[in-house]
Order: sequence, then structure tokens, then C-alpha cells
Amino acid sequence: TAKMDKIFRSYYVWPKFPSISMSGDSCALYCKHCNHTYLNDMQSLTKPEKFLETCRQLADNGTVGFLLSGGCNKNGKMLNLRKLLPVIKQIKRETDLIIKLHAGFVDTTLAEDIVSAGIDIASVEVVGSNETIKEIFDFNASTNSYVNTLQNLESAGMPYIVPHICIGLHYGEINGEFEALKIIKEFCNPSLLVMIVFRPTKGTVLENCKIPSISDISTVVKKAKEMFPYKDIS
Ligand code: SF4
Repeated sequence: TAKMDKIFRSYYVWPKFPSISMSGDSCALYCKHCNHTYLNDMQSLTKPEKFLETCRQLADNGTVGFLLSGGCNKNGKMLNLRKLLPVIKQIKRETDLIIKLHAGFVDTTLAEDIVSAGIDIASVEVVGSNETIKEIFDFNASTNSYVNTLQNLESAGMPYIVPHICIGLHYGEINGEFEALKIIKEFCNPSLLVMIVFRPTKGTVLENCKIPSISDISTVVKKAKEMFPYKDIS
């Protein structure tokens, strides 16, 4: 029999794993690659009672779980997360729904509260260049903010941490991706590493930007495989 050394997995997440915005269409940031457009494709659930009711319905309808996302405040923290944590905890107690949280920046207390609420997976974007943080996100942060978030989630005992890197986020160019890989390697033990390729979105400042070149993408992915030989890279 032929030896298979490459596995290609493909996932179709909708409708069994919908995306929920905890902030509706609100976000204090105007990141150049998004400009709030990502929020349009999410179901808005900003109030605890409605959140609880909808999640119960999702569970009754056989939904596997959901991505909990939404907009941020000026410091990169997820809007409404703290307010919704008690009902998130309740949902985790009552149902088998798997909750994957776009974590945003997380301090020690929030990390502990996320873990004690029973959230299953923390998805953490990691950016390895202060220039990109300033240019693309324009918020009050540095690469250290990502380091702290990973460390805080690790120390709190987050069951699954899934960092992701957006290749070419800096106007389609490579800038900080290798540093982001180093940060991940040094400060967390990822369950899975996700590499996203920057794709210009209509209605954003970067809509006419070039997409990253195949050779840039392949260089970053190769480096990731070299640095994380035993991890799944998705
Ligand atoms: S913080 Fe998120 S939702 Fe807000 S503009 Fe940036 S990428 Fe879009």
C-alpha cells in the first residue's frame, strides 16, 4: 500500500458551528483589513438573556458549538465578554456546545475567568511586528500584548489555545510573521496552529492591496512546519 504522509482536512463549519458577535456591529477599532466588515457575517448576541435563550435553541437544534467573536475596545479587549461570561458559564454547564472564543487581549483575571467559565478553545491572533500593529490596527498595543495574552491563558490552564497568524497582513507583505512564530513557540503550547492568508476585503482600506505572493506564503508555512514539527498546522 502507498504510504500517505500528507493529510488534507477540510471543514465545513456552517451551520453547525455559527459565529456570534458579542458586540453586534460595534467595534472601537477600524482595522485596515476589516473596517467592521467581519462583524456583518456574525449573528449578533449582545445581551445576556438573549444569549442564553439563543444558545439553548442552538443546542436543541443539534448545533455542535460556536465561535464567540465580535468587536474590541481601544485596548484590544473583546467588547461585552466580561458581561456575558456568567451566561457563557451557564451554557457550558447546561449543554454540550463547544465554545471557541476569539480571545482578544486577555489579562490574568480575565484569563482565569474564561477558563472557569468553561470556554473550550481560545483562538488568539498573534502579530509579530509593532509596525504592523500601528499601521493596520492602530491601537494601544505592542507585540508584548500578544505575549502577555498567551502567557496569561497558559497560566490560567486554558484547555486549548489556538494561535493564528495572518500571512501578509502588512499590505500583502511579510512583516513580523517569523517573529509571531517565535512568540508562539516561546510563550505557549498551541493545540493547533492556524495560518490565514491575507485576502483584501471590499469596503476596507486594504481592498486594493495585493495578495501575498505564493513564495512568501510558502516560506512562512515552511518555517512554521520546521518550528512546530509535531503540531497540526491548519
Ligand atoms: S477589532 Fe476586529 S472587528 Fe474591529 S475592525 Fe478590527 S478586525 Fe474588525
